[in-house]
Amino acid sequence: LLKCEDVTKSFGGLRALNGVTLDVQRGEILALVGPNGSGKSTLINMISGHYAITSGRITLEGEQISGKSPHQIAQSGIARTYQIPRLFNNLTVLENVRICAEFGSVSGMGVAGADEVAKAALLYTGLAEKANVLPEALNLHDRKFVEFARALAAKPRLLLLDEVLCGLNPAEIDHAVEMIKRIKAGGTTIIFVEHLMRAVVALADRVAVLDQGKVLALGQPTETMRDPAVISVYLGGGHAA
Ligand code: ATP
Ligand code: MG
Repeated sequence: LLKCEDVTKSFGGLRALNGVTLDVQRGEILALVGPNGSGKSTLINMISGHYAITSGRITLEGEQISGKSPHQIAQSGIARTYQIPRLFNNLTVLENVRICAEFGSVSGMGVAGADEVAKAALLYTGLAEKANVLPEALNLHDRKFVEFARALAAKPRLLLLDEVLCGLNPAEIDHAVEMIKRIKAGGTTIIFVEHLMRAVVALADRVAVLDQGKVLALGQPTETMRDPAVISVYLGGGHAA
């Protein structure tokens, strides 16, 4: 479905991504893991078009998307959540979701259509009763679920999740893991960035380990996380796996 070919991103002299090549098959869940600063969020931002590519190519079903705007990429069927939820605080939960239904839709579904799609996304994520509250009244779990609803309202082919479990308690994590499984069962392809190995093993079909802007290993989760090179990055970096 998605291919990254030799993707590089520099911020001034800093090379955040250094020749990343990977692909995501239709219907699969790919986990992106790696120490802090290894380039996980940068890669998500490149795929979603929020960061311009320095060199390389990203294609969605063979069509080049690198170089397109975030809006064009959303309309081509890629939706995302953010590491820190980015909700409009002056809009209600429903309005937040509705705006993204409009933003991400290919054909311009109109106000009534967007309203219907947004309400369905809130039902799907269990937030229907909170449709008319402002985001600041919600806890982190619910705010993260509004982000899910927003992304799903665009009916994406590919969903990008950046640390959706971070900051949640164990019961909330289980709830979010179930949500992700349900989204996959509905046919959506997912790339998710995650530090929590329990969730990676529970969810991912394959895992890509990033280290200093490069793909260090890519494969089936339990095998890949046992790779000595991967273990040494985690132990050497002092990062709890
Ligand atoms: P974390 O696990 O902490 O979220 P990450 O793997 O998501 O880490 P990135 O946020 O992708 O890491 O950062 C990779 C590198 O790129 C880091 O050195 C970071 O400081 C740098 N970087 C990321 N975004 C920017 C930016 N907008 N401007 C300058 N440098 C950036
Ligand atoms: Mg990050």
